[in-house]
Amino acid sequence: MKVAVTGGAGYIGSHAVAELLSLGHQVTVIDDLSAGHLAAVPESAVRFVRADIGDLGAMTKALDRQDALIHFAGLLSVGGSMKDPRSYFETNLVKGMTLLDAAKATAVRRFIFSSTCATYGVPHGPLTEDHTKEPVNPYGASKRAFEQVLEAYARIGQVRAIALRYFNDAGARRDGSLGEDHAHEEHLIPLALDAAAGRRPPLTVFGDDYETPDGTCLRDYVHVDDLARAHVLALEAVDRTTSPFTPINLGTGHGTSVRAVVQSVERVTGMKVPHSVGPRRAGDPPALIAVPERSRTVLGFEPAIPSIDEIVETAWTWRKAHPQGYSSAR
Ligand code: UDP
Repeated sequence: MKVAVTGGAGYIGSHAVAELLSLGHQVTVIDDLSAGHLAAVPESAVRFVRADIGDLGAMTKALDRQDALIHFAGLLSVGGSMKDPRSYFETNLVKGMTLLDAAKATAVRRFIFSSTCATYGVPHGPLTEDHTKEPVNPYGASKRAFEQVLEAYARIGQVRAIALRYFNDAGARRDGSLGEDHAHEEHLIPLALDAAAGRRPPLTVFGDDYETPDGTCLRDYVHVDDLARAHVLALEAVDRTTSPFTPINLGTGHGTSVRAVVQSVERVTGMKVPHSVGPRRAGDPPALIAVPERSRTVLGFEPAIPSIDEIVETAWTWRKAHPQGYSSAR
């Protein structure tokens, strides 16, 4: 298939591109490099379009004669969205709609969307896809709003769409070629690894007074190679789903606490993670754990790397080889 991938130079996008290439798909990467890394794009193997997804002319050109679109490009920080909600709705919703205009103009119907469990808000029961959607931050709200647009367009037959609601993406490509490199790192695993290696200040554990077994938050960590593979499965499934718009959770169904992640980082690195306990972080629910049934039945998805130690191991291998992220490689 000819597959266009917006945000293909980003963390999950670059892993999905690698997966698509390994299966023989022809890939067009669309990325403005505002957050992505050119070093994460195998330029000789893909057609690379450096452009903003809000640029209708560039998108219409880029999507010409493509069979499918996987849309990763967007803003992704919960904290950032609390400070600047407008840019989240502008990029994740308004520019996403421009991309849909380009998809319409070029008759690209298969649309796989990078969504998030932040669309649910604070859980009050098992997180199936039907759980109420009451996002508690503008990031989740902007992703949910775009899901609703996609659903409306799907109902009138413009697209067939799958929205993949990721839980906690983590780890690095198993062959060591790709990893996680954000300009402003806020995620637990990279921060804990860097704290262990002495490259960042000690970790702050955000709250240990939650109603969870060890008092720290539970999250469902999914390896990024597993997530990448799920996108390929979604491409294969999108023509045969019962509904033209299908949201699907991507998680393992198992929760790991912040303390358990710290212990895993210590086991894997053989070093202590200097840390202290701080106040809760605003907007953090105690537990976010997927009910993953639909990913199994609709996609045939089964995580290949469900253990937290293996996930942390891949992140650590990449971090050791790229202490400055992708700039280490140049
Ligand atoms: N966390 C933490 N200290 C940090 C960063 C994260 O205790 O410096 C906790 C956070 O409160 C959450 C979990 O680690 O419970 C995962 O957070 P992360 O930011 O990695 O992902 P999120 O769950 O926000 O998508």
